[in-house]
Amino acid sequence: MTPWFDPSLVFIGGAWCAPASGDTLPVIDPSTGDEIARIARGTSADIDAAVIAAEAALAGEWGALPAFERGRILARLGQLILDHIEQLSAMEAADVGKPLTQARNDVIAMARYCEFYAGAADKLMGETIPFQSGFTVYTLREPHGVTGHIVPWNYPMQIIGRSVGAALAAGNACVLKPAEEACLTALAFADLARQAGLPPGALNVVPGLGAEAGAALTAHPGIRHISFTGSVATGRKVQAAAAENVVPVTLELGGKSPQLVFADADLDAALPYLVNAGIQNAGQTCSASSRILVEQSIYAEVCERMAEAYRGLSVGPATADLRVGPLISARQKGIVERYLAMADPAHVIARGQLAADLPAGGHYIAPALIAGPGPDHVLAQEEIFGPVQIILPFADEADAIRIANGTAYGLVASVWSRDGGRQMRLAKKLRAGQVFLNNYGAAGGVELPFGGTGLSGHGREKGFEALYAMTGLKTVAALHG
Ligand code: NDP
Repeated sequence: MTPWFDPSLVFIGGAWCAPASGDTLPVIDPSTGDEIARIARGTSADIDAAVIAAEAALAGEWGALPAFERGRILARLGQLILDHIEQLSAMEAADVGKPLTQARNDVIAMARYCEFYAGAADKLMGETIPFQSGFTVYTLREPHGVTGHIVPWNYPMQIIGRSVGAALAAGNACVLKPAEEACLTALAFADLARQAGLPPGALNVVPGLGAEAGAALTAHPGIRHISFTGSVATGRKVQAAAAENVVPVTLELGGKSPQLVFADADLDAALPYLVNAGIQNAGQTCSASSRILVEQSIYAEVCERMAEAYRGLSVGPATADLRVGPLISARQKGIVERYLAMADPAHVIARGQLAADLPAGGHYIAPALIAGPGPDHVLAQEEIFGPVQIILPFADEADAIRIANGTAYGLVASVWSRDGGRQMRLAKKLRAGQVFLNNYGAAGGVELPFGGTGLSGHGREKGFEALYAMTGLKTVAALHG
């Protein structure tokens, strides 16, 4: 896997340049622990240059482009992404340890975001408002200006697609700070955007440390909107920085998302979702389903069937393309191991299998299925961000709602039941930004607004909602008599 661009550079004003610090950071392959490349250590000087380039783009060619031309560029970008699917998925597999099939899915999703926002760019409209006689009143949806995008390492391509795609479609100019552990596909995206004809400065990418480049971006007075996906702790800092400059911020901060399985559910249909939603991307998914709530009368059966599925899960290097790859880093593996150490060993009812001859430097964990701790146990309350699921029994519908809503998070939830009335009741009562009925995740649906409540954050990504969030609304009231 050798990128076709030089990853040790920053992308500013449509050109590759050395970071102001002259420093680089290592890119580590999570499957092996080996260094595979170097990326730029961007700092506040690079962020300043990126914001200046973005402002120039808005004042120049990019700002003057009609919406349908922005859409055409995004459409070309989507096609270029698909044309590079092999390179991009290999790059992602090496950079973040994602099994190849899952990495390919992320490439396709990134292309889908570009396609969706390409088509939406010229359908973002204001309204006319009936008002007093003698007036004509209408609203304009205008881009914020320069938008900041801070992206984590777990789904870099998808998150860049949904946040930068929406921002560009709405006519903003973007400064993107990818996670230091996942920069390669962000840089590839910038180069493909250049090839697609995106004018210089409309997208700028500055890799670097969160505390340096990330903090400089969120504090920059030229940034008019911030999109952040990541941890609650960093989300608080980002929101505080946004408050200082009084700019809007979208925060997507993960969750402890439940699937509720009732006795009347189609268990054969549910089972693959119950397991996959917990172990996809080794559980490092904001919308992972880390809690499975099961009606008491079928609790033992679901535990046994999930345990059997877990025993068949194999874990190995990204290139082996097994169900589960390594965790992103030794640090993340340490976090997950500390949580696992809090489990009563008697409650761990099944583990997946580590493949033979795993590279010694890789960050592997056998998935763990845990049944037994109460709903208030730390393992049932906190986001673990690893391949660990907790199964909890519930007595009835009211008990299921109480447990499901009983964490500080509220990102997504699902209900497995054949009872239509129950589906409708729970869709209203569950505290979540998305509720799925007899499925989980709706295959990622780029069209579907996504985001949370409580510690899961606020604001919505994806779909038209993200496009609206990337604009400010101006009301024009003309008195003409
Ligand atoms: P962070 O929230 O720290 O990182 C997310 C992004 O924020 C990265 O791009 C990071 O850059 C950047 N960042 C870090 N510090 C700052 C700052 N002060 N100002 C601006 N940007 C900053 O998550 P971690 O990678 O540290 O992971 C820790 C935990 O966060 C995980 O165990 C998981 O629970 C949760 N998480 C949730 C995600 C989700 O999808 N909701 C995604 C990733 C993590 P850099 O990486 O270069 O430091």
